[in-house]
Amino acid sequence: AALREGYEHFDPRAYLRNNYLPPRADFSSEEFVVPWKLRCLAETFASGEIRGRTLIDVGSGPTIYQLLSACDHFEEIVATDYLAVNREELGRWARGEPGAFDWSPFIQHVCKIEGRGEPWQDKERRLRERLRRILPIDVHRPEPLGAPLRPPADALLSAFCLEAVSPDRAAFVRALAHVGNLLRPGGHALLLGALGESFYLAGPARLPVVPLEESDVREALAAAGFALRELRSYAMPPALRTGVDDVDGVFFAHAQK
Ligand code: SAH
Repeated sequence: AALREGYEHFDPRAYLRNNYLPPRADFSSEEFVVPWKLRCLAETFASGEIRGRTLIDVGSGPTIYQLLSACDHFEEIVATDYLAVNREELGRWARGEPGAFDWSPFIQHVCKIEGRGEPWQDKERRLRERLRRILPIDVHRPEPLGAPLRPPADALLSAFCLEAVSPDRAAFVRALAHVGNLLRPGGHALLLGALGESFYLAGPARLPVVPLEESDVREALAAAGFALRELRSYAMPPALRTGVDDVDGVFFAHAQK
């Protein structure tokens, strides 16, 4: 209940400013956190192993950076979020409306690291075409979308959501199992998330986060029925500890249901 109340004050534009503008979104060096996240995803999708009809992104928030490498490998991308304000922010970008957040530096960077010489506008167009559904979700329900996804997703992605909506590690495991219900057996799950974080800010909202260690991520994935394929982590450099949260680092996990 306290978490739900906190999210009523979540300001998408403040969240975007805190995390997706410099200094965190600085593309001049791979040492910054946003290029690190984009590289994890680009390298994982480059194998060509993760593909199919549908990819679902859980707790998309107001962001699309996490879908830029994914969108080349799926016919449809389903974005989801608990908050209408975030779904509206995403919709503005998807429809190319004025006032939408400018993701073009992210798209340009992903095209560069993917190294295929693709014009960034082509990738932008492809993601907009494939991002056909932006649905409400609540990961605390065993059926997070209110009904089963039919057919189930071929892949699941979730970035900075589950630990940011779970009061403790047990709730994190349950949420992971709930979102696993949206995925077909054998489907791939990619998680990005915060390590050692206890709160983050989004305008007037101060959201509690369950602080995780790498071992917690490992154990939670196993407990929720996933086989771990890869786990990487990133230590937040002092220059990026800006006070918008108390994050120590970031993990990236690739697992299979
Ligand atoms: N994926 C984005 C946003 C993460 S912020 C990124 O990578 O930056 C955490 C998100 O979880 C917010 O968008 C918030 O609205 C969403 N959220 C809050 N409660 C939730 C719930 N019960 N189920 C699913 N998502 C929830």
